[in-house]
Amino acid sequence: MTVVTARAHARPLERLMHFTDVQKSEIKQAWAVRRRKQWVMAAACTPVIAAAISYQRGLTNTFFGLSPTVGAAVFVAMVVGAGAFSLRNWRCPGCSKYVGSDFSPRHCPHCMVQLR
Ligand SMILES: [Zn+2]
Repeated sequence: MTVVTARAHARPLERLMHFTDVQKSEIKQAWAVRRRKQWVMAAACTPVIAAAISYQRGLTNTFFGLSPTVGAAVFVAMVVGAGAFSLRNWRCPGCSKYVGSDFSPRHCPHCMVQLR
């Protein structure tokens, strides 16, 4: 026999956090800053991705004039760095949980606070 506690029933509501209007405004401002940082990071990665695609398609046989080995190391370092940055940056300012792979979410999937 399975006993379902009242706490188990309450979970979906527990995850909804309540913020004041001032907090909601601060969350939107903080999210705008995080979103801008994410775009800057993506823009900074674009030349390396373009170079990797050019090399893979045989359009070039160097990485900005350097050897493909250096290019591969730079590419791997960039992927790891961008992933680590995103894991830290792409978090809800309200509940601090990772927002997910959506690049333009309107609200946090965890606490449901409006992000923009
Ligand atoms: Zn949240």
